[in-house]
Amino acid sequence: MMIIMMADATKEQVAIVIERIEFFGLGAHLSEGEERTVIGAIGDGRPIQQDLFLHMPGVDRVLPISRPYKLASREFKPANSIIPVNGVKTGSNQVLIIAGPCSVESRSQMLETAHAVKEAGAHALRGGAFKPRTSPYSFQGMGEEGLEILAEAREETGMPIVTEVMSPKQVPLVVGYADVLQIGARNMQNYPLLHAVGESQKPALLKRGLMATVDELLMAAEYILSHGNRQVLLCERGIRTYETSTRNTTDINAVPVLKSLTHLPVILDPSHSTGHWNYVAAIARAGIAAGADGLIVEVHREPAEALSDGGQSLKPERFAELVCQVRAVAEAVGRSVEH
Ligand code: PEP
Ligand code: MN
Repeated sequence: MMIIMMADATKEQVAIVIERIEFFGLGAHLSEGEERTVIGAIGDGRPIQQDLFLHMPGVDRVLPISRPYKLASREFKPANSIIPVNGVKTGSNQVLIIAGPCSVESRSQMLETAHAVKEAGAHALRGGAFKPRTSPYSFQGMGEEGLEILAEAREETGMPIVTEVMSPKQVPLVVGYADVLQIGARNMQNYPLLHAVGESQKPALLKRGLMATVDELLMAAEYILSHGNRQVLLCERGIRTYETSTRNTTDINAVPVLKSLTHLPVILDPSHSTGHWNYVAAIARAGIAAGADGLIVEVHREPAEALSDGGQSLKPERFAELVCQVRAVAEAVGRSVEH
């Protein structure tokens, strides 16, 4: 449930409410809004007596949170969460664009691509150093060497780095390099990983599982939030359906659905959701028109030679066109793509 404090409640009154929440063995989660402080009191599902808090000094109201995901819900936090990434206030009317190759393959490939996507208007750089591949015989990523290359690309371009972490054990290493920790679709329900990323306090990009419902995605986000990390970006990256003409099916519905259920920003990945470079721009435009807060797009200087996901990667020139088109769509729906 949530305890809504009066507009003039003092810090001391808030502290006393938190103390009582913890006394009853519940978790206390603070959300300081512009006007009021709301405190989430979250237990293990057993009913909590509202009267315990209702008459405390500074408390205005006590309301239940009807959704199973508490901290992620708009009930708990009606205003959008804003997550700053390289000056872009993600979750506001500013659209975030993340771009780069699927995998870090070499120093020259990464640095060249970093400069090209920056020039075209990207705000952050993607690139996987640890790759979750369907086949154990496929390229698995460069590991720490790849992270070193990403750090060099950040140094040269000033762009923050978005890169995947696949296991809880890898978190301390990847945290040392990344600005945003990507949790891949295959790991959306890797609970020890969600826990570790929650404790890391680094912004997280949580990708929707191939077979996951919107509610399951939000429950996965709840794991990260409940371990103290409020900076979660959700990513719709396509789901598996009976359709085989594309690699996945972009669940474009999920964009407005998520925006109504949660305050967290929603990023669309048109590269994995289509699997073909020639559909990427159309779906990127659709995502922004539908209300996504950002895009993550795969770009490769020579897609035919890419070690992973070449077929869905854009050449830098095509990515530059995509950014122009997305900017026009963003402006048409009252958003902006800053450069
Ligand atoms: C990726 O971003 O390259 C990736 C592996 O994505 P997903 O986890 O969505 O398949
Ligand atoms: Mn990929």
